Amino acid sequence: MKRVYNFSAGPAVLPEEVLRQAAEEMLDYQGSGQSVMEMSHRSKVYDAIIKEAEADFRELLGIPENYKVLFLQGGASTQFAMIPMNLMKNRVADYIVTGQWAKKAWQEAQKYGKANKIASSEDRTFAYIPDVSDLPVSPDADYVYICQNNTIYGTKYRELPDTKGKLLVSDVSSMFLSEPMDVTKYGLVYGGVQKNVGPAGVTIVIIREDLITDSPLEGTPTMLTYKTHADADSLYNTPPCYNIYICGLVFKWLKKMGGLSEMKRRNEEKAKILYDYLDGSKLFKGTVDKEYRSLMNVPFVTGNDDLNAKFIKEATEAGFVNLKGHRTVGGMRASIYNAMPKEGVEKLVAFMKEFEEKNS
Ligand SMILES: *Cc1c(COP(=O)(O)O)cnc(C)c1O
Repeated sequence: MKRVYNFSAGPAVLPEEVLRQAAEEMLDYQGSGQSVMEMSHRSKVYDAIIKEAEADFRELLGIPENYKVLFLQGGASTQFAMIPMNLMKNRVADYIVTGQWAKKAWQEAQKYGKANKIASSEDRTFAYIPDVSDLPVSPDADYVYICQNNTIYGTKYRELPDTKGKLLVSDVSSMFLSEPMDVTKYGLVYGGVQKNVGPAGVTIVIIREDLITDSPLEGTPTMLTYKTHADADSLYNTPPCYNIYICGLVFKWLKKMGGLSEMKRRNEEKAKILYDYLDGSKLFKGTVDKEYRSLMNVPFVTGNDDLNAKFIKEATEAGFVNLKGHRTVGGMRASIYNAMPKEGVEKLVAFMKEFEEKNS
């Protein structure tokens, strides 16, 4: 067996230890004689799995009692509609558009009310985060929406926006559990887990209890009402059982590794290795403004499409896979999530150096 270094933006690399444990438990989960894939979501044994996953997740992020944690389906993209359906009481919300995911969320919200774009970085292909210290927040806005780490462009907020007292809603899909986060600053935080947490198929929503309403916009389906899932502890219908179990194993791994402060330290260390090289390289360069660089997604280019293609091909052959940039950006992107070991980044940089020497 040969494992590659996988720089995919998502679904993405998972901790090898977690995969090994899942393999060991595949046919017989802890003496139950069944795989987690086969067991009833109403069984005692599964109930313990989902409860423990939630408890570990809450512990990692220090989530206060007055926030609910929901394990949902439909991907992060379903939240683009679910958020306005449940939170747009006045049918007004403000969006900060810093990339494609924020833009999609903003466009979807327009179906339900007045979605204002109060700031954007589209003028320079989303290569920075706009100044969010004094925005024209709408007086009747139900919330202010951000995408905190822009997976495609590789930018991240340094500071949260001043929402002037309005609720903050954040998509943290590609930075979930990469560093500590003060949940109390948000009304709602969510992410698809397939970037940094687990296998595709689970979206985790953290929502302040008082925002869980039993009167969402008229016509909101039962399944798209937060209250449905909050009241049933994420077991209203069959949840993505196996995927939640894997997330739970990842939470245990994160706790064992030292928690989110330690992950932050590791992630900063890994990102620095790559960014320092890009800053000194004559061939490769990063594509975004330095102060907004993401710790998780690192896009870079050579400035020559043929050379980009050659690099991606040779890197793949050498065992560094999924380095192709997003189809709308081109070039390369290395996603270096929690489960990417430092050694993987060091080896990638060594490979890039060698490629630079040969091709300049
Ligand atoms: C990948 C991604 C999404 C979309 O996730 P799906 O689960 O595929 O719907 C949304 N937001 C961000 C920041 C992402 O990285």
